[in-house]
Amino acid sequence: MWCVNVLLVFLTFFVLGQDPTEIVFGGVFDENLESGDHSDLTDQEAFKFAAYLASKENGLRFKAITETNFNHVSGPFKAKLAACSLIEHQAVVIFGPKQAEDVNIVQSICDYKDTAHVVNKWVYGPAEHRTIINFYPHSSYLTQAYFAILKMSEWKRFTLFYDDNESLLRMGDLLNLAKDDGIVVVLKQLDEVGDGIYRTSLKEAVRSGETNYVIDCNIVVLEEVLRHAQQVGLLTSHYNYFITNLDLQTINLEPFQYSEANITGIRIVDLSNELTYWKSQGIIRGDFNPHFDLSKMKTETALLIDSVIVLAKVISTKISFQNLTTDDDSCDSLKSSRHGYTISNHVKTSKHSEMTGLIEFDGNGFRSNFDLDVITLKDNGINKIGTWNSSKGLITVGHGAKHSIKASNSLRNRTFKVITTLTAPYTMLRETPTQLFGNNRFEGFAIDLIDELGKMEGFNYTFLIREDMKNGAKDPVTGQWSGMIGDVMDGTADLAITDLTITADREEAVDFTSPFMDLGIQILAQKPKNAPPSFFSFADPFALDTWMMLALAYVIVSLSFFIMGRLCQEEWTNPYPCIEQPEFLVNQFSLQNSAWFAVGALMQQGTEIAPIAVSTRMVTGMWWFFVLIMVSSYTANLAAFLATENPIHLFTDVYTLVDNMEKNNMRLGAKANGATESFFKGKNDSVFKKIAKYMKTHPEDMVKENKDGVKLAEDFNNYAFFMESTSISYETQRHCSLQGYGKLLDDKGYGIAMRKNSTYRKTLSMAILKLQTSGVLDDLKRKWWEEKRGGGQCSAVRDNDKTPPLAVQNVQGVFFVTIGGTILAVFLVIAELLISTYKISKKTKIPFKEASSIEMRSFFDFNSDVKPALGDKSKCGSKSSEGTGTSNNNLLAPAPQYGFIPTITKEKL
Ligand code: GLU
Repeated sequence: MWCVNVLLVFLTFFVLGQDPTEIVFGGVFDENLESGDHSDLTDQEAFKFAAYLASKENGLRFKAITETNFNHVSGPFKAKLAACSLIEHQAVVIFGPKQAEDVNIVQSICDYKDTAHVVNKWVYGPAEHRTIINFYPHSSYLTQAYFAILKMSEWKRFTLFYDDNESLLRMGDLLNLAKDDGIVVVLKQLDEVGDGIYRTSLKEAVRSGETNYVIDCNIVVLEEVLRHAQQVGLLTSHYNYFITNLDLQTINLEPFQYSEANITGIRIVDLSNELTYWKSQGIIRGDFNPHFDLSKMKTETALLIDSVIVLAKVISTKISFQNLTTDDDSCDSLKSSRHGYTISNHVKTSKHSEMTGLIEFDGNGFRSNFDLDVITLKDNGINKIGTWNSSKGLITVGHGAKHSIKASNSLRNRTFKVITTLTAPYTMLRETPTQLFGNNRFEGFAIDLIDELGKMEGFNYTFLIREDMKNGAKDPVTGQWSGMIGDVMDGTADLAITDLTITADREEAVDFTSPFMDLGIQILAQKPKNAPPSFFSFADPFALDTWMMLALAYVIVSLSFFIMGRLCQEEWTNPYPCIEQPEFLVNQFSLQNSAWFAVGALMQQGTEIAPIAVSTRMVTGMWWFFVLIMVSSYTANLAAFLATENPIHLFTDVYTLVDNMEKNNMRLGAKANGATESFFKGKNDSVFKKIAKYMKTHPEDMVKENKDGVKLAEDFNNYAFFMESTSISYETQRHCSLQGYGKLLDDKGYGIAMRKNSTYRKTLSMAILKLQTSGVLDDLKRKWWEEKRGGGQCSAVRDNDKTPPLAVQNVQGVFFVTIGGTILAVFLVIAELLISTYKISKKTKIPFKEASSIEMRSFFDFNSDVKPALGDKSKCGSKSSEGTGTSNNNLLAPAPQYGFIPTITKEKL
C-alpha cells in the first residue's frame, strides 16, 4: 500500500518521459539487496525522494530513473546493460551499484563516457578513477577514528570479532596501529557454526577471560551477534564493546540497553535536526512511507540522499545546463562527454552541509573533515558522548564520555556475584535454629571481608557456593580451567573468594587483587608420642660411665678404709675399755665394715663405725663431700628426668619426612587439584618430586577438601598432610593432637579473583590495602582464627598442662631393685643359715639334719623369742661383736664371759 502512496507522490511531481529541461540522474540499485522491512527506506525510494528535494531546492528539474531490471546476481554483464540503458536515457550521473564487481564495470563505462559516477560505500585504498565520487568516509579516516576511541578507552588488549574478508581488510590498519602501540589484539571470526551460530565463537571468548571486544560485522547480523553474546553471558557490566559499524543506532537496541555492558559505537548520521527540517519542508507527510522511522535511516541511504542533493547543487551552480544536453545516447559511441570529470572535480572542491554533516573532500578525493558522533548505549537508549572529527581528532568528549568508554572503575551500586566454597573459616554456614536466606546463611572471614569491601566501595553482592569445593586447576590436555577460576572466566561469577591461592598459572587466566593473607605450605601431622619411660629411669640422671665411676670410687674408698684402718695405729682399739691391759686390740675397719661404712655414707645413712685417726677421718670427709655432691646432683637431675617427656619424632621437616618415608611407612596427602598439589608438580627438587610422585600414585591419600585431610591426620599417626600455614594454624587451634611441622616451603598469598582485565581490580586492591593498614584484616583474622567456633581451645589446654603425677612406670625400676634386693637377702639368709648350721653340726657333732631341725623348730616357734644355744656361743658373740664393731677375726677367740677377766696381751708393734 505504501508503495502505491510513494508512487502517487512521485507521479505528482514528475512527468513521465523525456523532458528537455530535465536533468537525469540514473540509479543502478539492486532491489534484492534492499531490506524487506517496511520501516526501511529503499534505495529507489530514497533516490527519487532526494531528486524531488533537489528539484525543490535548486529550481531545476532533476529526474531520478532507476534500472529496475538490474539484479547483481545476474553478474557484471547485467550491470553494464543497466548502466548503458541509463546513459541512453541521458543520465548525467550514475549512482550505484553496491557490489564491488558490478561497481567496476559501471565505473569503466562512466570513465569511457566521462559520466559522473557516485558510489557510497566503504572502499580501501586510493581513489583510482577520475569520475568517481564516494561520499562514504574513507577507511583511512575511519581507522583513525576507531583508534582514537580505543586510545581513549585505555584498553591494553582486546578481542576483535570480524565476519568476513572485507571486514578483516577493514580492520587491517587498526590492527597495525594497535600493535605499534603495544595493545594486544586477539582475532576471532564470527563463525556461523552449527546450531550455535555465533555462540560457539562467543563462548570461546568467554573462556578466554577477555573483557574488551571490538565487533566489525555487517549491520544485518549485528543484532543477532549481540543477542547471542547476551545468551552466553558476554553482555554484562564487566564487558566493554566497541562496534565499528556506522549503523549501530539503526538496529533494535532495546534488549541490550539494560544489560549494563559498555557498548560504544559511532555514527555519521544524526537525523534529530533533519526531522524538524524535513517536516518544515512538508516532506514528511502521511502519504509518504508512513512506516519509515527517520532515526533508523542507514548511513548508505543517507549518503545517497546527500549525494543526489550535492550533485544537484553542483550541477545547478557550476555546470551550464546546455552543456549537459547531448545527442549522444549510445553506450559504445565515443562521441561527446557528459562532463563527468568536471562535475566530479566541482563536487570534490566544494563544501556542503547536509544530512551526514559537512561534505568536503581532501586532495585524494576522500571525504574529509567530517564529524562522527561517539555514542554509547545506556538504560535510556543511545547517548552521544563525544565527537570525532577527521581533521581535529577526538575533539569533544561530552560529560561522562570517558567514564563510559573506559567502563566505570567505580563499583558503587553494582551487584557482584561472588563465588566461594564452604571452607572454614573463610565461608561457613551460620549455625542457627531459624531458617536463613540469601547472604545471611553464611559467615566467616571471606564473608566479612567482602562485606567490608562492599561497605567501602558501595557495591552489593550475592554469594554463590561452589559445591565441589574446587578452587580451580587447569586441565593439562584441554587447557580448560575448572572450579571457581573457571566460574570467573565463563562469567558464572564476578568474584571468587576463599582460600584461593594466587599462582602464576591462575594469574594467566584471571586477575587477582593484592593478597589479603600471606602463607606458605607446611606439614600437618600428629604431635609426636612420648616414649614409654625406661625401666631403670631412676638411673637416668647419671650416664652409664658416671655410674661406673661411682662404683669404682666406692670400691676404692672401701679398700682405702680397710687398708688405712689396718695401717693406722689409732684404729686398733681396746674392745674392753675397762680393762686397761687388753690382751688384744681390735680394728673396726674390717673389709666388710669398710664396705658397709662407705655404703652408709653413700645412702646418706649412718653406721656405728666412726673413724678415729686423722687419716681415716680425712678419707671419710672426702668421701662424704663426694657423696654430698653426687647425691645432690642425682636428686636435682632425678626430678627433671622423671618429669621430662621423651617424644619420638617420626620426622621434623619435609626432608626428614621423605628420608624416613619407607621406614615409618608414611602416607602423604594434600587437597586434590589445589595450589599445594600444583606446587609439588611444578618442582624439580628431588624431594618435592618424590612427594609429587607419591601423590600421583596414591590418589586415595589425596582429599577433596582440607577438612578430610585433617581427619586423616587425626586418625593416622603416619599420615602427613600438606596444607597451607594459615589453615594449619586454624586447625591446630581446634585439633589439639595435631601440629605443623617444618618451615614454610614457599611464600604466597590469597587473593580475590576476577575476570582478566577487570577494571575494578585496582579499586578492590586499594580497598584491601586500606583494610590491611587500618588493622581490620588482623581483627578479622583474630576473630575467625582465635575466637569463633572453638578457637583457642588448644592453647587453653596447654595452659592447664600441669606437671603430670609420676606414674608407676616412671619409678618401676626402684621398686624392682628394692624387691630384688630383698629377695636376694632372703636367699642369703638361707645360705647363711645353712652354713652356720653346718658349722655347728660339725663342731657339736650333732648331725646336720638334727641341727637343722632344731634351728627350724626354733624359727617356727613364733611364741618364743629365745632359742637353745647350740655349740659355740661365740657365734652370738660374733654377731654381737659385729654390732659393736668387733672383727670377725674374733670368731676364733672365745668371747669373754661376764665376771671373766681376760688376759690382755699387748700386740707387738
Ligand atoms: N589454597 C589452595 C588453592 O587455592 C587450596 C588448598 C591447598 O591446595 O592446600 O588451590
